[in-house]
Amino acid sequence: MIRDPLIEGATQLFINGEPRDGSGGKRIPQINPATEEVFAEVAAAALKDVEAAVEGAQRAFAQTWRDLSPRKRTDILFNIARLIRENTEPLAQLESRNIGKPITDARDEVQLGARVFEYYAGAVTKLFGQTIPVARGGFDFTLRQPMGVVAAIVPWNFPFPIACWKVAPALAAGNTVVLKPASQSPLTAIMLGQFAHEAGLPAGALQVLPGAGGEIGDALVAHPLVRKVSFTGSTAVGSRIMGIAAGDLKRISLELGGKSPNIVFADADVEQAATTSPMSVFANTGQDCCARSRVFVERRIFNAFVEKFVAATQQLRVGDPLQEATQIGPLVSAGQRRVAEDFIVEARKAGRTVAAGGGRPLDKGFYLEPTVLLEVDPGDRVWREEVFGPVVCIRPFDNEAQMLREVNDSRYGLSGSIWTNDLKRALRVSRQVESGVLSINSHSSVHVEAPFGGFKQSGLGRDLGMSAMEGYTELKNVYVAE
Ligand code: NAD
Repeated sequence: MIRDPLIEGATQLFINGEPRDGSGGKRIPQINPATEEVFAEVAAAALKDVEAAVEGAQRAFAQTWRDLSPRKRTDILFNIARLIRENTEPLAQLESRNIGKPITDARDEVQLGARVFEYYAGAVTKLFGQTIPVARGGFDFTLRQPMGVVAAIVPWNFPFPIACWKVAPALAAGNTVVLKPASQSPLTAIMLGQFAHEAGLPAGALQVLPGAGGEIGDALVAHPLVRKVSFTGSTAVGSRIMGIAAGDLKRISLELGGKSPNIVFADADVEQAATTSPMSVFANTGQDCCARSRVFVERRIFNAFVEKFVAATQQLRVGDPLQEATQIGPLVSAGQRRVAEDFIVEARKAGRTVAAGGGRPLDKGFYLEPTVLLEVDPGDRVWREEVFGPVVCIRPFDNEAQMLREVNDSRYGLSGSIWTNDLKRALRVSRQVESGVLSINSHSSVHVEAPFGGFKQSGLGRDLGMSAMEGYTELKNVYVAE
């Protein structure tokens, strides 16, 4: 196996403050999607390790973390943020090699992870209860109390920031965490476990268990000491988790798939909308739950919009993710590329227009060109299902009401954009779009301070902001008689 100082410390489970191999002896090869080469092997957790991790996390909860003073918790979370910032470059390099993410994006995501820890470090002392004037008189107040052990299960598309935005609020609220990264992308999660320990987090308060979801996921979700499961991933696995968690009424929050709309009215700044929209779907090679993959354009400006959108798409720099200028890297795996290509093949067979892309731009690596489809039908699979690859469909619309029916005719409801200079229309439409997150004249979906999550089958509960932190607590009401 290639030895590499960057990954030297990041290839084992992290349990009770120590790196260790999985008890089953299995290892998971890590493939660089840009080169198709195995560049590391990571220990895989087995069922015995789930047991050890959860029990250790429960001990850390009951013996130290739950009762540590808020001030101490704040200091430790700030220390973690500092270590993340100091290690931006190694973390970004690892992430880029592990999943093919462009290095500039990887750096931004590491910084985002640090900001998340800073936000929740400050939030420890701002998690307020209420005093309530009850009918009996006396004194009534609420407490927000930690739950215990939280299982955080995260995907491979934004491995580091999503791990941070589950771990930080859960710890801030006084819980301990067992973090299970996706088997394709465990490296930065393991480093996070090490930094947290170095920052003064008690042993066991953050356990990191790389391993296949199908093997250890169910055991983790079903474990009686796990009080909450916070999951980001596919709708299918989310639904399975909800079923298992129902057994002992575990608390859950689920951030799942999406098929988000990008709505462009004729009165918008068409230039800005058309030139920024490609990256709202092709960033992270389309492997983004918020990807605006259904574009609705008012017919009057349709041709002009499409022309500019296609031109901007063709200028995107696809290539080696470690090059500073690269905007689009490979997909995470050969399998993920095959899934995306199947959508394109099907669209071609149905006679849809491929206005840009559709092919493989490089011989080596799991690359796929950003692909623009026109003349798709609302019944087409590519219009209805999440591709999780660089494929967008653009359709014209004639009136607002009909467009909104089509926008909402989806099992998903995660994110979306509305482009218009008419304020009343922007507010009217934003109220009617069925999604948890929306942006007007922008494509931004994620703000550390604001709630993030979905309607319908895009999820349950919210990440980020104070909503997330409240989601890691139980609400207790106490009445004191006078
Ligand atoms: P996935 O559901 O296959 O895996 C996500 C995580 O769940 C991984 O850690 C995996 O190992 C684990 N897992 C798999 N089977 C499990 C089981 N039976 N029990 C417990 N855990 C199990 O999803 P993915 O392919 O890693 O990620 C892509 C999906 O995630 C897309 O659908 C995407 O839209 C969604 N996603 C959603 C958001 C959001 O915030 N809404 C963010 C990123 C990704």
